[in-house]
Amino acid sequence: MSTATLPAYDYDIIIIGGGPAGFTAGIYAARAGLKTLLLEGASSVSQITITDLIENYPGIPEGIDGFALMEIFKNQARKFGLEVMTADALAISKTASADALWIVATGSKSFKTLSIIAATGAQWRKLGIPGEAEFAGRGVSYCATCDGPFYRNREVAVIGGGDSAIQEALFLTHFASKVTVIHRRDRLRATGILQKRAAAEKKIAFAWNATLAEVIGDDFVTGIRIRDTISGELKSIPAAGVFIFVGRLPNTVVFNNVLKLDAGGYIVTDENMNTSAAGIFAAGDCRAKIFRQVVTAAGDGANAAFSAELYVGNLKGEAY
Ligand code: NAP
Repeated sequence: MSTATLPAYDYDIIIIGGGPAGFTAGIYAARAGLKTLLLEGASSVSQITITDLIENYPGIPEGIDGFALMEIFKNQARKFGLEVMTADALAISKTASADALWIVATGSKSFKTLSIIAATGAQWRKLGIPGEAEFAGRGVSYCATCDGPFYRNREVAVIGGGDSAIQEALFLTHFASKVTVIHRRDRLRATGILQKRAAAEKKIAFAWNATLAEVIGDDFVTGIRIRDTISGELKSIPAAGVFIFVGRLPNTVVFNNVLKLDAGGYIVTDENMNTSAAGIFAAGDCRAKIFRQVVTAAGDGANAAFSAELYVGNLKGEAY
């Protein structure tokens, strides 16, 4: 199909999601001269913007906070002409008239596009235990960077044993008098370097084989009740703050009946970021894969933009 036979459309590519994957895709797509719009979520922020310190992103040996790194990504993308709009994508559909076009509906406008890059990321998983929702923002937190300074010289608990839990527990030692990590097994999932740092940190204590049963308090959190996974016994621990890091859920609801998702709700792609639908590509934490890092999200974004460029070029009848 050549451009002449394509129906009218608004964009070559619409990127959904304003994290490292989305903005890297934006840099590549805009720099390639494709008319590209990035929709930055109105009701959520990228997880990276609330990350305190990223010290494993190549080229920045001194480390950088997530918000500052995202500003660099955004400015670089805008320099190449990427259009950015703050809006949630609420529905994805295909035009009735032409198979080649996708429609992305936001609250205020709908756009026709030749291709879509899904870079919608993931969000923190909730435990659903008594007191968790009730005390959210009053002692229960999913962001140590945001809330850590409120707990100067106070005791806090961190739930989980992965990289996020241990990294955030280490961060909390800058403020709290004691950080108790509560983990459901007797060994951490976190990488070796974080495990070693946590083991060497005097303010960190571990409650092994324990799960969070309840968050207790009055106006604010005063403590937690944990359950021993072996004996079943309940025990109370004083804590002014409870930081929950038990994994993430992908933000893929909008793709539910559009793309193939895995059992966890992550978008299934091939190694070139092609999804199950022609013209839709996926990148970053919303994609089914093992390793979710800023650098892998950025790599996905570049790959997705390149695949979208080939796809769009093919639709327009351009030889590559
Ligand atoms: P994660 O690796 O999935 O770890 C989740 C942790 O929560 C696990 O320890 C898990 O226990 C525990 N958990 C899950 N459900 C639970 C429940 N219902 N009750 C109690 N505990 C529960 O998640 P993450 O730590 O957020 O990391 C996600 C990805 O981001 C990983 O790939 C990680 O490497 C990456 N990341 C990297 C860095 C870094 O490089 N500095 C920092 C943060 C995250 P089990 O261990 O028993 O399963």
